[in-house]
Amino acid sequence: MAKTKSQDSSNNSGNLPFEVRNSKIQGRGVFATKRIRPGQRLIEYTGERITQDEADRRYDDDSMDRHHTFLFEVDEENVIDAGKIGSDARYINHSCDPNCEAVNDGGRIFIESIKNIQPESELTYDYSYEHIGELPDELRQQYICLCGKAKCRGTILKVKKPRKRSKSRKTSTRKKSAA
Ligand SMILES: [Zn+2]
Repeated sequence: MAKTKSQDSSNNSGNLPFEVRNSKIQGRGVFATKRIRPGQRLIEYTGERITQDEADRRYDDDSMDRHHTFLFEVDEENVIDAGKIGSDARYINHSCDPNCEAVNDGGRIFIESIKNIQPESELTYDYSYEHIGELPDELRQQYICLCGKAKCRGTILKVKKPRKRSKSRKTSTRKKSAA
């Protein structure tokens, strides 16, 4: 053979720098397969766009021992449900000390790197599930975080001062307005 396929795939634009594997944090996770620099837009969080009410109908948090959904809250009214038709972004796990963040860019959600990520490292972002008021032990258990970071707050919930209802959806940490 004149040419062999080497492991240098830098010219291959269709080759993503990550893949889905089993994770120690929870279920499946997404892992870097090559070095990723900060500020890279890695993948869009895609799925079915539904209303908050429809999301509540589909998923009953009370019936789950450990919280698990593929919902991402875009804004007050819209939720992306990646349960059936979503991209691999749905497999990216939560971490309290993440290497990526979710960015709301004009209503579309993208996962972008915020640190240098070495090959084999798991990609993570902070789900920032809003929780209002006190956090009972059973809720803490249902939303337990196993990210293992020194900064781990023990739960994927982000407790906020009372104002809105509690929501079990991933939310973006940064908003970009549409250009
Ligand atoms: Zn954690």
